[in-house]
Amino acid sequence: MKILVTNDDGIYSPGLSCLAKVAAAHGEVIVMAPDIEQSSMGQAITSGKPITYKKSPTHFEGIEAYRVTGTPADCVALGTHLFENIDLVLSGINIGSNLGNSAWHSGTLSAARQAVLFGIRGIALSVSVGEDEPDFDALKPFAQAALKEVINENERRLLNINFPRNPNGEIVWTSQSVRQYDGKIMANEDPMGREHYWFTVIPIEPEEDGSDRWAVKQGKTSITPMILDLTDQKYLNERSKEQNRT
Ligand code: MN
Repeated sequence: MKILVTNDDGIYSPGLSCLAKVAAAHGEVIVMAPDIEQSSMGQAITSGKPITYKKSPTHFEGIEAYRVTGTPADCVALGTHLFENIDLVLSGINIGSNLGNSAWHSGTLSAARQAVLFGIRGIALSVSVGEDEPDFDALKPFAQAALKEVINENERRLLNINFPRNPNGEIVWTSQSVRQYDGKIMANEDPMGREHYWFTVIPIEPEEDGSDRWAVKQGKTSITPMILDLTDQKYLNERSKEQNRT
């Protein structure tokens, strides 16, 4: 199996090298990741200027790695263009969870989604964080277990995997939590006394049972299968019925 590994935290993230090493047990791995952090960039692509890439040495223990002057989605586009027959794109392991509505902003998940748009399987992996950076050595066996659970599926499916800070070893299939969203602007002042703003997202509702947020809160590893069709089918059916009556 030929696996392209990318992320949105950038080429130097310890989560990326952890994922590349875990993936190497399942086939040939090529790493192609942004040269700088691209978190919360969603599925942005670089369309107004060219993108370039350079071979990136060190911390991958012999795994071929490149850094790209672009977004996570660009990395997937360039990687699948340069290296033929990629079977699977893995994105992560992101430092910070990608649960619920963060699916809209997440560069990590968007890289996996970009793969699915190209007709390739895409899997995003993220870990919750507290005060400290996650311990990727400790997380490795849990990442291995989660990947083992899904690696042999053949469908071109998008999967969003989230690890809690301290996984209890249980893996559950979940739905995306759609409650919660409060995108809030926090005003503050810079050292020069000028006003500036932070955009932050705070959960405002309790999570649904069986959802990704619920699972991670319980210490379980969450796997959410996702689809790309954004159509509101229920509403479409209602409107279609009305249309047929007139
Ligand atoms: Mn990130």
